[in-house]
Amino acid sequence: MPNDDQESWLRVKSRLRSEVGDDVFSSWFARMDLEGLDDGGVRLSVPTRFLKSWIQSHYAEKVLTCWQAERNEVGRIELIVRSAVLKNTAQPKAKIEPAAMNGHGDGRHMNGNFAGRPIPAGDAAVHEALGGSPLDARLTFDSFVVGRSNTLAQAAAKQVAAARRNDPVLFNPLYIHSGVGLGKTHLLQSITWAGNAAGERKVLYLTAEKFMYGFVAALRAQNAIAFKEALRGIGVLVIDDLQFLQGKSTQAEFCHTLNALIDAGRQVVIASDRPPSDLESLDERVRSRLAGGLVVEMGALGEELRLEILKARVQAARAHHPTFDVPLPVLAYIAKTVTHNGRDLEGALNRLLAHSKLTGQSVTLEMAEREVKDLIRPQEPKRVKIEDIQRIVARQYNVSRSDLLSSRRTANVVRPRQVAMYLAKTLTLRSLPEIGRRFGGRDHTTVLHAVRKIEGLVGNDVTLSEEIELLKRQLQE
Ligand code: ADP
Ligand code: MG
Repeated sequence: MPNDDQESWLRVKSRLRSEVGDDVFSSWFARMDLEGLDDGGVRLSVPTRFLKSWIQSHYAEKVLTCWQAERNEVGRIELIVRSAVLKNTAQPKAKIEPAAMNGHGDGRHMNGNFAGRPIPAGDAAVHEALGGSPLDARLTFDSFVVGRSNTLAQAAAKQVAAARRNDPVLFNPLYIHSGVGLGKTHLLQSITWAGNAAGERKVLYLTAEKFMYGFVAALRAQNAIAFKEALRGIGVLVIDDLQFLQGKSTQAEFCHTLNALIDAGRQVVIASDRPPSDLESLDERVRSRLAGGLVVEMGALGEELRLEILKARVQAARAHHPTFDVPLPVLAYIAKTVTHNGRDLEGALNRLLAHSKLTGQSVTLEMAEREVKDLIRPQEPKRVKIEDIQRIVARQYNVSRSDLLSSRRTANVVRPRQVAMYLAKTLTLRSLPEIGRRFGGRDHTTVLHAVRKIEGLVGNDVTLSEEIELLKRQLQE
Protein backbone atom coordinates (compact mmCIF):
# COMPACT_ATOMS: atom_id res chain seq x y z
CA MET A 1 0.00 0.00 0.00
CA PRO A 2 1.41 3.45 -0.89
CA ASN A 3 3.01 5.18 2.04
CA ASP A 4 1.03 8.37 1.73
CA ASP A 5 -2.19 6.37 2.09
CA GLN A 6 -0.94 5.09 5.42
CA GLU A 7 0.04 8.59 6.42
CA SER A 8 -3.38 9.94 5.52
CA TRP A 9 -4.88 7.17 7.59
CA LEU A 10 -2.79 8.15 10.59
CA ARG A 11 -4.02 11.71 10.26
CA VAL A 12 -7.61 10.61 9.82
CA LYS A 13 -7.28 8.56 12.99
CA SER A 14 -6.01 11.45 15.02
CA ARG A 15 -8.77 13.64 13.65
CA LEU A 16 -11.28 11.00 14.62
CA ARG A 17 -9.77 10.67 18.07
CA SER A 18 -9.99 14.37 18.72
CA GLU A 19 -13.61 14.46 17.55
CA VAL A 20 -14.96 11.54 19.53
CA GLY A 21 -12.61 11.64 22.52
CA ASP A 22 -10.11 9.08 23.77
CA ASP A 23 -12.61 6.75 25.40
CA VAL A 24 -14.85 6.36 22.41
CA PHE A 25 -11.90 6.15 20.12
CA SER A 26 -10.23 3.35 22.00
CA SER A 27 -13.49 1.47 22.43
CA TRP A 28 -14.44 1.47 18.77
CA PHE A 29 -11.64 2.59 16.49
CA ALA A 30 -8.41 1.40 18.05
CA ARG A 31 -8.45 -1.80 16.04
CA MET A 32 -9.66 -0.36 12.77
CA ASP A 33 -7.17 -0.78 9.93
CA LEU A 34 -6.84 0.69 6.47
CA GLU A 35 -7.03 -2.02 3.80
CA GLY A 36 -6.83 0.17 0.74
CA LEU A 37 -7.96 3.21 -1.23
CA ASP A 38 -9.22 3.22 -4.80
CA ASP A 39 -11.55 5.23 -7.06
CA GLY A 40 -12.78 7.45 -4.30
CA GLY A 41 -13.48 4.54 -1.96
CA VAL A 42 -11.72 3.78 1.29
CA ARG A 43 -11.72 0.22 2.55
CA LEU A 44 -11.41 -0.15 6.32
CA SER A 45 -11.44 -3.31 8.38
CA VAL A 46 -12.32 -4.20 11.95
CA PRO A 47 -11.84 -7.53 13.73
CA THR A 48 -15.43 -8.33 14.58
CA ARG A 49 -18.83 -8.18 13.05
CA PHE A 50 -20.16 -6.57 16.17
CA LEU A 51 -17.70 -3.69 15.84
CA LYS A 52 -18.58 -3.32 12.21
CA SER A 53 -22.31 -3.00 12.80
CA TRP A 54 -21.78 -0.64 15.70
CA ILE A 55 -19.54 1.65 13.71
CA GLN A 56 -21.87 1.50 10.74
CA SER A 57 -24.86 2.55 12.72
CA HIS A 58 -23.19 5.13 14.95
CA TYR A 59 -20.14 6.55 13.28
CA ALA A 60 -20.40 6.03 9.52
CA GLU A 61 -20.93 9.69 8.79
CA LYS A 62 -18.14 10.81 11.10
CA VAL A 63 -15.60 8.43 9.59
CA LEU A 64 -16.48 9.65 6.12
CA THR A 65 -16.19 13.33 6.97
CA CYS A 66 -12.84 12.78 8.67
CA TRP A 67 -11.58 11.14 5.50
CA GLN A 68 -12.98 13.88 3.31
CA ALA A 69 -11.23 16.50 5.40
CA GLU A 70 -7.99 14.70 4.61
CA ARG A 71 -8.64 13.61 1.00
CA ASN A 72 -11.44 15.41 -0.76
CA GLU A 73 -11.68 12.77 -3.50
CA VAL A 74 -13.06 10.26 -1.00
CA GLY A 75 -16.72 9.59 -1.71
CA ARG A 76 -17.50 6.46 0.22
CA ILE A 77 -16.30 4.15 2.95
CA GLU A 78 -16.42 0.39 2.90
CA LEU A 79 -16.21 -1.40 6.19
CA ILE A 80 -15.28 -5.05 6.29
CA VAL A 81 -14.65 -7.66 8.95
CA ARG A 82 -11.06 -8.80 8.85
CA SER A 83 -10.29 -12.42 8.37
CA ALA A 84 -10.56 -14.09 11.74
CA VAL A 85 -6.96 -15.17 11.71
CA LEU A 86 -4.27 -12.98 10.32
CA LYS A 87 -4.62 -9.66 8.61
CA ASN A 88 -5.55 -9.62 4.98
CA THR A 89 -2.52 -7.61 4.06
CA ALA A 90 -1.88 -9.43 0.87
CA GLN A 91 -5.13 -11.15 0.12
CA PRO A 92 -6.64 -10.57 -3.31
CA LYS A 93 -9.41 -8.03 -3.14
CA ALA A 94 -12.09 -10.27 -4.55
CA LYS A 95 -11.92 -12.51 -1.50
CA ILE A 96 -12.56 -9.75 0.96
CA GLU A 97 -16.24 -9.33 0.08
CA PRO A 98 -16.51 -5.72 1.00
CA ALA A 99 -19.76 -4.50 2.42
CA ALA A 100 -20.92 -0.99 1.72
CA MET A 101 -21.10 1.21 4.79
CA ASN A 102 -24.87 1.63 4.50
CA GLY A 103 -25.76 -1.87 3.44
CA HIS A 104 -25.46 -5.02 5.46
CA GLY A 105 -22.75 -7.06 3.98
CA ASP A 106 -22.52 -10.73 4.41
CA GLY A 107 -19.70 -11.35 6.85
CA ARG A 108 -20.39 -15.06 7.32
CA HIS A 109 -16.98 -16.45 6.71
CA MET A 110 -15.36 -13.73 8.76
CA ASN A 111 -17.35 -14.41 11.84
CA GLY A 112 -15.41 -17.36 13.13
CA ASN A 113 -12.84 -18.09 15.74
CA PHE A 114 -9.51 -19.80 15.27
CA ALA A 115 -11.09 -23.16 14.88
CA GLY A 116 -13.41 -21.76 12.27
CA ARG A 117 -16.48 -22.43 14.37
CA PRO A 118 -19.06 -19.74 13.72
CA ILE A 119 -20.17 -17.72 16.70
CA PRO A 120 -23.92 -17.20 16.87
CA ALA A 121 -24.70 -13.65 15.85
CA GLY A 122 -27.22 -13.46 18.67
CA ASP A 123 -24.47 -13.33 21.29
CA ALA A 124 -23.10 -10.13 19.92
CA ALA A 125 -26.60 -8.69 19.90
CA VAL A 126 -27.12 -9.50 23.59
CA HIS A 127 -23.79 -7.99 24.34
CA GLU A 128 -24.62 -4.88 22.40
CA ALA A 129 -27.96 -4.45 24.13
CA LEU A 130 -26.19 -4.53 27.47
CA GLY A 131 -23.61 -2.05 26.33
CA GLY A 132 -20.62 -4.38 26.50
CA SER A 133 -17.24 -3.58 25.01
CA PRO A 134 -16.39 -5.03 21.60
CA LEU A 135 -15.32 -8.66 21.58
CA ASP A 136 -12.78 -10.24 19.28
CA ALA A 137 -14.09 -13.51 17.84
CA ARG A 138 -10.61 -14.97 17.85
CA LEU A 139 -10.18 -14.79 21.59
CA THR A 140 -11.69 -18.06 22.75
CA PHE A 141 -10.66 -20.97 24.95
CA ASP A 142 -9.99 -22.99 21.80
CA SER A 143 -7.26 -20.64 20.69
CA PHE A 144 -5.76 -20.15 24.16
CA VAL A 145 -2.65 -22.26 24.60
CA VAL A 146 -2.06 -23.52 28.11
CA GLY A 147 1.42 -23.65 29.62
CA ARG A 148 3.07 -23.48 33.00
CA SER A 149 2.59 -19.75 33.43
CA ASN A 150 -1.15 -19.70 32.83
CA THR A 151 -2.53 -23.11 33.86
CA LEU A 152 -4.22 -21.91 37.00
CA ALA A 153 -5.68 -18.78 35.41
CA GLN A 154 -7.05 -20.79 32.49
CA ALA A 155 -8.55 -23.44 34.77
CA ALA A 156 -10.23 -20.80 36.93
CA ALA A 157 -11.53 -19.01 33.85
CA LYS A 158 -12.98 -22.23 32.44
CA GLN A 159 -14.64 -22.99 35.73
CA VAL A 160 -16.30 -19.58 35.77
CA ALA A 161 -17.47 -19.95 32.19
CA ALA A 162 -18.94 -23.38 32.81
CA ALA A 163 -20.77 -22.58 36.04
CA ARG A 164 -24.54 -22.80 36.00
CA ARG A 165 -27.00 -20.26 37.20
CA ASN A 166 -27.50 -21.50 40.73
CA ASP A 167 -24.15 -23.13 41.33
CA PRO A 168 -22.40 -21.89 44.46
CA VAL A 169 -19.80 -19.31 43.53
CA LEU A 170 -16.42 -20.79 44.36
CA PHE A 171 -14.25 -17.73 44.23
CA ASN A 172 -15.42 -14.20 43.86
CA PRO A 173 -14.07 -12.10 42.39
CA LEU A 174 -11.68 -13.97 40.15
CA TYR A 175 -8.81 -11.53 39.77
CA ILE A 176 -6.19 -12.19 37.08
CA HIS A 177 -3.09 -10.04 36.80
CA SER A 178 0.03 -10.06 34.63
CA GLY A 179 2.29 -7.88 32.57
CA VAL A 180 1.13 -6.67 29.18
CA GLY A 181 0.43 -9.07 26.30
CA LEU A 182 0.33 -12.24 28.39
CA GLY A 183 -3.25 -13.24 27.69
CA LYS A 184 -5.52 -11.49 30.20
CA THR A 185 -7.86 -10.05 27.60
CA HIS A 186 -7.78 -13.33 25.73
CA LEU A 187 -8.96 -15.22 28.81
CA LEU A 188 -11.59 -12.68 29.77
CA GLN A 189 -13.09 -12.67 26.31
CA SER A 190 -13.00 -16.48 26.26
CA ILE A 191 -15.10 -16.49 29.42
CA THR A 192 -17.53 -14.09 27.79
CA TRP A 193 -17.92 -16.07 24.58
CA ALA A 194 -18.17 -19.43 26.32
CA GLY A 195 -20.45 -18.22 29.09
CA ASN A 196 -22.87 -16.57 26.71
CA ALA A 197 -22.85 -19.53 24.35
CA ALA A 198 -23.79 -21.83 27.23
CA GLY A 199 -26.77 -19.55 27.80
CA GLU A 200 -26.84 -20.18 31.54
CA ARG A 201 -25.86 -16.73 32.70
CA LYS A 202 -25.49 -13.44 30.91
CA VAL A 203 -21.86 -12.45 30.75
CA LEU A 204 -21.04 -8.79 30.29
CA TYR A 205 -17.54 -7.80 29.25
CA LEU A 206 -16.52 -4.20 29.91
CA THR A 207 -13.20 -2.47 29.75
CA ALA A 208 -12.66 -0.19 32.72
CA GLU A 209 -12.84 2.64 30.20
CA LYS A 210 -16.20 1.45 29.04
CA PHE A 211 -17.40 1.12 32.60
CA MET A 212 -16.41 4.71 33.23
CA TYR A 213 -17.74 5.90 29.92
CA GLY A 214 -21.00 4.02 30.25
CA PHE A 215 -21.49 5.22 33.77
CA VAL A 216 -20.59 8.80 33.06
CA ALA A 217 -22.84 8.80 30.01
CA ALA A 218 -25.66 7.32 32.05
CA LEU A 219 -25.22 9.98 34.69
CA ARG A 220 -25.32 12.66 32.06
CA ALA A 221 -28.49 11.19 30.71
CA GLN A 222 -29.69 10.99 34.32
CA ASN A 223 -30.23 7.36 33.85
CA ALA A 224 -27.99 5.93 36.52
CA ILE A 225 -30.80 3.76 37.82
CA ALA A 226 -31.27 2.08 34.46
CA PHE A 227 -27.56 1.50 34.24
CA LYS A 228 -27.47 -0.12 37.66
CA GLU A 229 -30.50 -2.20 36.82
CA ALA A 230 -28.82 -3.41 33.66
CA LEU A 231 -25.74 -4.38 35.62
CA ARG A 232 -27.81 -6.21 38.17
CA GLY A 233 -29.51 -8.20 35.44
CA ILE A 234 -26.33 -9.94 34.47
CA GLY A 235 -24.84 -13.14 35.85
CA VAL A 236 -21.15 -12.51 35.29
CA LEU A 237 -19.50 -9.12 35.12
CA VAL A 238 -16.10 -9.12 33.47
CA ILE A 239 -13.96 -6.01 33.78
CA ASP A 240 -10.74 -5.67 31.84
CA ASP A 241 -7.80 -3.37 32.61
CA LEU A 242 -9.06 -2.31 36.01
CA GLN A 243 -5.91 -0.21 36.53
CA PHE A 244 -7.48 2.39 34.25
CA LEU A 245 -10.45 2.99 36.50
CA GLN A 246 -10.17 6.60 37.52
CA GLY A 247 -12.10 9.26 39.33
CA LYS A 248 -13.66 9.26 42.77
CA SER A 249 -17.27 8.95 41.71
CA THR A 250 -16.52 6.17 39.23
CA GLN A 251 -14.65 4.29 41.90
CA ALA A 252 -17.44 4.73 44.40
CA GLU A 253 -19.81 3.35 41.81
CA PHE A 254 -17.48 0.49 41.01
CA CYS A 255 -17.27 -0.39 44.69
CA HIS A 256 -21.02 -0.29 44.97
CA THR A 257 -21.50 -2.46 41.89
CA LEU A 258 -18.89 -4.93 43.08
CA ASN A 259 -20.50 -5.29 46.48
CA ALA A 260 -24.00 -5.54 45.06
CA LEU A 261 -23.02 -8.25 42.59
CA ILE A 262 -20.93 -10.30 44.97
CA ASP A 263 -23.51 -10.11 47.72
CA ALA A 264 -26.14 -11.27 45.27
CA GLY A 265 -24.01 -14.31 44.41
CA ARG A 266 -23.09 -13.07 40.94
CA GLN A 267 -19.66 -13.74 39.54
CA VAL A 268 -17.18 -10.93 39.00
CA VAL A 269 -14.02 -11.40 36.96
CA ILE A 270 -11.30 -8.80 36.81
CA ALA A 271 -8.04 -8.35 34.95
CA SER A 272 -5.38 -5.81 35.74
CA ASP A 273 -1.70 -5.22 35.20
CA ARG A 274 -1.02 -5.31 38.93
CA PRO A 275 -2.16 -7.14 42.08
CA PRO A 276 -5.05 -5.65 44.10
CA SER A 277 -2.71 -4.32 46.77
CA ASP A 278 -0.96 -2.17 44.16
CA LEU A 279 -4.09 -0.47 42.87
CA GLU A 280 -3.15 2.75 44.57
CA SER A 281 -6.06 4.87 43.61
CA LEU A 282 -8.69 2.49 44.96
CA ASP A 283 -9.61 2.71 48.57
CA GLU A 284 -8.66 0.11 51.09
CA ARG A 285 -12.08 -1.55 51.34
CA VAL A 286 -12.26 -2.13 47.60
CA ARG A 287 -8.74 -3.48 47.51
CA SER A 288 -9.43 -5.96 50.23
CA ARG A 289 -12.67 -7.04 48.62
CA LEU A 290 -10.76 -7.63 45.38
CA ALA A 291 -8.08 -9.57 47.21
CA GLY A 292 -10.72 -11.65 48.98
CA GLY A 293 -11.54 -13.90 46.02
CA LEU A 294 -9.06 -15.84 43.96
CA VAL A 295 -6.07 -13.77 42.84
CA VAL A 296 -4.05 -15.43 40.08
CA GLU A 297 -0.92 -14.11 38.50
CA MET A 298 0.07 -15.12 34.98
CA GLY A 299 3.80 -15.21 34.43
CA ALA A 300 5.79 -14.43 31.31
CA LEU A 301 5.25 -16.79 28.37
CA GLY A 302 8.03 -19.36 28.50
CA GLU A 303 9.87 -20.28 25.32
CA GLU A 304 8.02 -23.56 25.02
CA LEU A 305 4.66 -21.86 25.35
CA ARG A 306 5.68 -19.23 22.83
CA LEU A 307 6.51 -21.97 20.36
CA GLU A 308 3.16 -23.66 20.93
CA ILE A 309 1.33 -20.37 20.44
CA LEU A 310 3.20 -19.78 17.19
CA LYS A 311 2.40 -23.25 15.92
CA ALA A 312 -1.27 -22.76 16.70
CA ARG A 313 -1.25 -19.41 14.94
CA VAL A 314 0.31 -20.80 11.78
CA GLN A 315 -2.19 -23.61 11.79
CA ALA A 316 -5.04 -21.15 12.08
CA ALA A 317 -3.60 -18.90 9.39
CA ARG A 318 -3.46 -21.80 6.97
CA ALA A 319 -7.24 -22.01 7.01
CA HIS A 320 -7.24 -18.78 5.04
CA HIS A 321 -3.84 -18.94 3.41
CA PRO A 322 -3.33 -22.60 2.53
CA THR A 323 0.09 -22.05 0.99
CA PHE A 324 1.48 -20.30 4.05
CA ASP A 325 4.02 -22.42 5.81
CA VAL A 326 6.66 -21.63 8.39
CA PRO A 327 9.35 -24.25 8.90
CA LEU A 328 9.87 -25.36 12.47
CA PRO A 329 13.38 -23.86 12.77
CA VAL A 330 11.93 -20.46 11.90
CA LEU A 331 9.24 -20.82 14.54
CA ALA A 332 11.85 -21.90 17.04
CA TYR A 333 13.93 -18.88 16.14
CA ILE A 334 10.99 -16.50 16.68
CA ALA A 335 10.04 -18.23 19.93
CA LYS A 336 13.58 -17.83 21.17
CA THR A 337 14.22 -14.24 20.11
CA VAL A 338 10.87 -12.46 20.25
CA THR A 339 10.47 -12.77 23.95
CA HIS A 340 8.27 -9.84 24.65
CA ASN A 341 4.68 -10.95 24.67
CA GLY A 342 1.87 -12.50 22.72
CA ARG A 343 1.26 -9.38 20.72
CA ASP A 344 4.78 -9.37 19.31
CA LEU A 345 4.51 -13.04 18.41
CA GLU A 346 1.41 -12.25 16.43
CA GLY A 347 3.14 -9.27 14.82
CA ALA A 348 6.10 -11.39 13.78
CA LEU A 349 3.89 -13.96 12.06
CA ASN A 350 1.82 -11.29 10.35
CA ARG A 351 4.94 -9.87 8.81
CA LEU A 352 6.13 -13.22 7.55
CA LEU A 353 2.72 -13.86 6.06
CA ALA A 354 2.59 -10.48 4.36
CA HIS A 355 6.13 -10.81 3.08
CA SER A 356 5.73 -14.27 1.68
CA LYS A 357 2.42 -13.35 0.06
CA LEU A 358 3.77 -10.19 -1.53
CA THR A 359 6.97 -11.70 -2.84
CA GLY A 360 5.74 -15.21 -3.44
CA GLN A 361 8.80 -16.52 -1.61
CA SER A 362 8.58 -19.22 0.97
CA VAL A 363 9.49 -18.33 4.51
CA THR A 364 13.13 -18.84 5.39
CA LEU A 365 15.26 -18.19 8.41
CA GLU A 366 16.94 -15.26 6.66
CA MET A 367 13.59 -13.69 5.89
CA ALA A 368 12.55 -14.13 9.52
CA GLU A 369 15.75 -12.58 10.80
CA ARG A 370 15.19 -9.54 8.63
CA GLU A 371 11.50 -9.16 9.29
CA VAL A 372 11.45 -9.50 13.05
CA LYS A 373 14.63 -7.58 13.81
CA ASP A 374 12.91 -4.68 15.49
CA LEU A 375 10.70 -6.96 17.56
CA ILE A 376 13.74 -8.34 19.32
CA ARG A 377 13.90 -6.02 22.24
CA PRO A 378 15.76 -6.42 25.46
CA GLN A 379 13.74 -8.23 28.12
CA GLU A 380 11.07 -6.01 29.53
CA PRO A 381 12.08 -5.17 33.08
CA LYS A 382 10.35 -7.47 35.49
CA ARG A 383 7.50 -6.04 37.53
CA VAL A 384 8.88 -5.71 41.01
CA LYS A 385 6.34 -5.87 43.80
CA ILE A 386 6.64 -4.23 47.17
CA GLU A 387 5.86 -7.52 48.91
CA ASP A 388 8.77 -9.15 47.12
CA ILE A 389 11.09 -6.34 48.16
CA GLN A 390 10.02 -6.74 51.76
CA ARG A 391 10.37 -10.50 51.66
CA ILE A 392 13.80 -10.51 50.06
CA VAL A 393 15.20 -7.70 52.19
CA ALA A 394 13.91 -9.38 55.34
CA ARG A 395 15.56 -12.63 54.32
CA GLN A 396 18.85 -10.93 53.46
CA TYR A 397 19.07 -9.16 56.84
CA ASN A 398 17.58 -11.96 58.83
CA VAL A 399 14.64 -10.02 60.22
CA SER A 400 10.95 -10.73 59.74
CA ARG A 401 8.69 -8.92 57.32
CA SER A 402 6.56 -7.73 60.23
CA ASP A 403 9.69 -6.21 61.81
CA LEU A 404 10.05 -4.11 58.67
CA LEU A 405 6.47 -2.93 58.97
CA SER A 406 6.57 -2.45 62.73
CA SER A 407 7.40 0.73 64.60
CA ARG A 408 10.51 -0.79 66.18
CA ARG A 409 13.49 1.54 65.95
CA THR A 410 16.42 -0.70 66.86
CA ALA A 411 19.36 -0.43 64.48
CA ASN A 412 19.02 -3.99 63.16
CA VAL A 413 15.56 -3.19 61.75
CA VAL A 414 15.96 0.49 60.92
CA ARG A 415 18.61 -0.06 58.25
CA PRO A 416 16.88 -2.96 56.44
CA ARG A 417 13.65 -0.98 56.52
CA GLN A 418 15.39 1.99 54.91
CA VAL A 419 16.96 -0.24 52.29
CA ALA A 420 13.58 -1.75 51.49
CA MET A 421 11.96 1.67 51.15
CA TYR A 422 14.82 2.81 48.96
CA LEU A 423 14.36 -0.22 46.69
CA ALA A 424 10.62 0.33 46.58
CA LYS A 425 11.19 3.88 45.39
CA THR A 426 13.82 2.99 42.81
CA LEU A 427 12.42 -0.28 41.43
CA THR A 428 8.70 0.44 41.33
CA LEU A 429 6.59 3.34 40.14
CA ARG A 430 4.89 3.69 43.50
CA SER A 431 4.60 7.13 45.04
CA LEU A 432 6.13 8.07 48.40
CA PRO A 433 2.76 8.13 50.22
CA GLU A 434 1.89 4.75 48.74
CA ILE A 435 5.20 3.28 49.87
CA GLY A 436 4.65 4.76 53.32
CA ARG A 437 1.26 3.12 53.48
CA ARG A 438 2.71 -0.24 52.51
CA PHE A 439 5.33 0.02 55.20
CA GLY A 440 2.99 -0.04 58.16
CA GLY A 441 1.25 3.26 57.44
CA ARG A 442 4.24 5.58 57.63
CA ASP A 443 4.31 9.18 56.51
CA HIS A 444 5.74 10.01 53.07
CA THR A 445 8.42 12.18 54.70
CA THR A 446 9.71 9.10 56.52
CA VAL A 447 10.06 7.32 53.17
CA LEU A 448 11.78 10.32 51.64
CA HIS A 449 14.19 10.44 54.56
CA ALA A 450 15.02 6.74 54.12
CA VAL A 451 15.60 7.13 50.38
CA ARG A 452 17.93 10.11 50.89
CA LYS A 453 19.75 8.34 53.69
CA ILE A 454 20.54 5.27 51.57
CA GLU A 455 21.41 7.37 48.52
CA GLY A 456 23.87 9.24 50.69
CA LEU A 457 25.42 6.03 52.03
CA VAL A 458 25.86 3.96 48.87
CA GLY A 459 28.46 6.38 47.47
CA ASN A 460 30.88 5.65 50.35
CA ASP A 461 29.85 2.35 51.83
CA VAL A 462 31.06 -0.42 49.50
CA THR A 463 29.51 -3.23 51.51
CA LEU A 464 26.12 -1.58 51.52
CA SER A 465 26.24 -0.79 47.82
CA GLU A 466 27.16 -4.39 47.04
CA GLU A 467 24.33 -5.63 49.22
CA ILE A 468 21.93 -3.40 47.36
CA GLU A 469 23.18 -4.57 43.98
CA LEU A 470 22.70 -8.14 45.08
CA LEU A 471 19.16 -7.43 46.27
CA LYS A 472 18.33 -5.71 43.00
CA ARG A 473 19.58 -8.68 41.04
CA GLN A 474 17.51 -11.09 43.07
CA LEU A 475 14.43 -8.94 42.58
CA GLN A 476 14.86 -8.51 38.86
CA GLU A 477 15.93 -11.94 37.76
P1 ADP B 1 -3.11 -8.77 27.85
O1 ADP B 1 -4.57 -8.49 27.90
O2 ADP B 1 -2.62 -9.57 29.01
O3 ADP B 1 -2.28 -7.56 27.60
P2 ADP B 1 -3.81 -10.22 25.44
O4 ADP B 1 -4.84 -11.15 25.97
O5 ADP B 1 -4.28 -9.04 24.66
O6 ADP B 1 -2.84 -9.74 26.60
O7 ADP B 1 -2.77 -11.08 24.57
C1 ADP B 1 -1.92 -10.51 23.59
C2 ADP B 1 -1.86 -11.42 22.39
O8 ADP B 1 -1.20 -12.63 22.72
C3 ADP B 1 -3.22 -11.80 21.87
O9 ADP B 1 -3.16 -11.87 20.47
C4 ADP B 1 -3.45 -13.17 22.47
O10 ADP B 1 -4.30 -13.93 21.67
C5 ADP B 1 -2.04 -13.73 22.50
N1 ADP B 1 -1.86 -14.68 23.59
C6 ADP B 1 -1.43 -14.42 24.85
N2 ADP B 1 -1.39 -15.54 25.59
C7 ADP B 1 -1.82 -16.54 24.79
C8 ADP B 1 -2.00 -17.95 24.96
N3 ADP B 1 -1.74 -18.56 26.13
N4 ADP B 1 -2.45 -18.67 23.89
C9 ADP B 1 -2.70 -18.07 22.71
N5 ADP B 1 -2.55 -16.75 22.49
C10 ADP B 1 -2.11 -15.98 23.50
MG1 MG C 1 -5.56 -6.67 27.78
